[in-house]
Amino acid sequence: MRAQDIPGALLELQQQHQFRQRHILETPQSSQVVIAGKSYVAFASNDYLGLANHPALIEATQQALSRWGVGGGASHLVAGHFAVHEQAEQALARYCGCEAALLFSSGYAANQAVITSLVGRGDAVFADKLNHASLNDACLLSRASFRRFRHNDLQHLEELLASTPARTRLIAVDAVYSMDGDEAPLKELLQLADKYDAWLYIDDAHGFGILGDGRGSAAENRLQGERLIYMATLGKAAGVAGAFVAASQQLVQWLVNSARSYIFTTAQPPALAAAVLASLQLIAGEPWRRTRLQQYVRSVRERLADVNFQLMPSRTPIQPIIIGRNEQAMLLAARLKERGYWVPAIRPPTVPEGTARLRITLTAAHTQDQLEGLLDCVVAATQS
Ligand code: PMP
Repeated sequence: MRAQDIPGALLELQQQHQFRQRHILETPQSSQVVIAGKSYVAFASNDYLGLANHPALIEATQQALSRWGVGGGASHLVAGHFAVHEQAEQALARYCGCEAALLFSSGYAANQAVITSLVGRGDAVFADKLNHASLNDACLLSRASFRRFRHNDLQHLEELLASTPARTRLIAVDAVYSMDGDEAPLKELLQLADKYDAWLYIDDAHGFGILGDGRGSAAENRLQGERLIYMATLGKAAGVAGAFVAASQQLVQWLVNSARSYIFTTAQPPALAAAVLASLQLIAGEPWRRTRLQQYVRSVRERLADVNFQLMPSRTPIQPIIIGRNEQAMLLAARLKERGYWVPAIRPPTVPEGTARLRITLTAAHTQDQLEGLLDCVVAATQS
């Protein structure tokens, strides 16, 4: 893109209702946020358990800042790996029932690390069509043959596995699909991985903290085995930032020695590792947050099914309403905003063409009144 082409490209995005703008939050992450001086009840974040602004996490981070300072100062391999990082990794591994865990500054970096460290030219990656963009980018970067199977279609996956010659095979899936809220058939995927001697890489960004009593999708499905690699992000239900990979000790050692997005980046600030430790205590110790979420999921589905909305098969806090046209989704989001509710309209290329949607995300920080207010408005906005 040359500089002189940018204005035209931006205009085109506007005309297609695909121009994106950031909202500037003037208050912390919560069920109620202020944007441009106006307060909204927000159904927009991935802070599912309501921990991003929790006093225990703030307190732990403040104490850790006093003890460890702000910056990591170097990459983990050079001089940026602190005792608190080590402690957080051990706690995460224990919690997920894995031998070892490795912390990353983001899920994006973790996905790159695992995929590019295990597959390259001559290998093949098999990816669900609805996988997160960070997984797709990692697959492309790896230079392995990149085969995409129809969403949750095990038969299609098996056809591709059987027909793609490769030295190393890796199946990569989201455990919970971020824009739909539905889940991958993990048990069956692990069986296919066993049958075709492939790795199964699970991105549980939206399941960790929520499913399996908080331990995530792999634990809920009692998945185990040397082919399994589990990744979860820490900026969503955990309310912090970063991600971790949980696997065997040897795989973690291999990542430390080979993953470029681990080696060539500054370590996550150590105070955030302390925040992760505090968050784990709440994830494990306050199951009422998940119980409340389940109750909210039921309320949304019961109420919106009554008025014939197209919902997705989701039992997770991601409860999208499929609208179809970009313009229509934008209009509905704007109507809700006028009434004081912030629900993002998600458009292509984030979701397939013709499936623009309102992506309602529920959190344990919402109240039943806030939720009922939203549902009343959604029904009214789509009928007016
Ligand atoms: N995987 C999935 C499924 C995600 O939804 C996201 C974040 N939206 C990521 C990975 C990337 O994680 P992070 O935001 O920590 O980079």
